[in-house]
Amino acid sequence: MTNALPPLREVVLRHGLDARKALGQNFLFDLNLTGRIARAAGPFDDTVVVEIGPGPGGLTRALLAQGARVVAIERDARCLPALAEIAAHYPGRLAIVEGDALEIDVAALARAQGAPHGARICANLPYNVATALLARWIEVEPWPSVFDRYVLMFQKEVALRIVATPAQRADYGRLAVLCGWRTKARILFDVSPAAFTPPPKVTSSVVELIPNPTPLPCDARALSRVTQAAFGQRRKMLRQSLKSLGVDAGGLLARAGIEETKRAEEIDVAGFVALANAFAAQ
Ligand code: SAM
Repeated sequence: MTNALPPLREVVLRHGLDARKALGQNFLFDLNLTGRIARAAGPFDDTVVVEIGPGPGGLTRALLAQGARVVAIERDARCLPALAEIAAHYPGRLAIVEGDALEIDVAALARAQGAPHGARICANLPYNVATALLARWIEVEPWPSVFDRYVLMFQKEVALRIVATPAQRADYGRLAVLCGWRTKARILFDVSPAAFTPPPKVTSSVVELIPNPTPLPCDARALSRVTQAAFGQRRKMLRQSLKSLGVDAGGLLARAGIEETKRAEEIDVAGFVALANAFAAQ
């Protein structure tokens, strides 16, 4: 089936899909690479895969070729005719949703497709909204969500922030705490700027996040508040930085069992969960 589809570069030319920076458009035309990313999200047993930003459809084709059913959310209406051509080659296997992924309930979308064997998210994310999308997916209630894996391309610098532990101080922050709380995240491989059209300025990385079905009990909003306060002034001691929460920071730290003189980057995920629970209980 895939062989019958025209080459991606030809599709891009025919539909006038010149890449737009404002939409984070850096396209992949290398079939080996799109195949590798799709394999990292597989194997697929009729699995529903939500893809954000299919663009002209390089990764979409790879996912379909490997047996996924794909629901693709694309903001750029210019890409829809190219995607419709792919859908015609895989009848009943590709649903296209035009819209802003930030405003779409992706879990509801996957459930609407049936998702009898679980659902996944796989995407070469638009970099301008990548962390906002990830945070939304990980903070969602109820948890675990319908997704059993997320395989996502980020700028390498963001990927390092996702997988960081207190041992990697400079990268360790809110994103690492959030992802470390509810998932097990790891970098699968790096992708050189040359792989994209147009090439971005920086190296990218494909990250795998596996949801932890039983994370430490904690309210996501409380965790967000305490990490925002703590890392907002990351060089200060917690007894100082947590004052921005408008509470007795010393009392909060005592109830969480954390020394007042510690800094945010010294506190592991369990420590932040304890802080969030102490904060929520006030
Ligand atoms: N998947 C394609 C590929 O790998 O060649 C394109 C990836 S490109 C990095 C990001 C894609 O996300 C673009 O097609 C862009 O139009 C789309 N996009 C940007 N912002 C979006 C948003 N808020 N919601 C959905 N799609 C978006």
